[in-house]
Amino acid sequence: MVFKNVKDVPVGPYSHLESTLINKTGEWRNMRPVLDRSKCIRCYICWKFCPDVAIKILPDGNIEHDYEFCKGCGICANECPKKAITMVREE
Ligand code: SF4
Ligand code: SF4
Repeated sequence: MVFKNVKDVPVGPYSHLESTLINKTGEWRNMRPVLDRSKCIRCYICWKFCPDVAIKILPDGNIEHDYEFCKGCGICANECPKKAITMVREE
């Protein structure tokens, strides 16, 4: 079926674009990224790759994980060139 207008699409069990900010998806997580700030060179590669915009750049330039939205996918840990992020199991 083709809809000519987005308003014609029936309401269904899909997410709206802005739902990432509404739904605190951190509850889905079973692994947690933990930052070793002493290894971080502030390249912000993790920030660019996080699919959930769950990494903040603080005013002082350090990064911080936002655990209310982080789903624990591990991409940030995988992409970090300094291995400054370790995934640990949630208690
Ligand atoms: S674990 Fe995934 S969702 Fe969480 S901060 Fe890293 S890249 Fe983002
Ligand atoms: S990718 Fe690694 S080194 Fe770069 S800002 Fe993130 S934690 Fe720091």
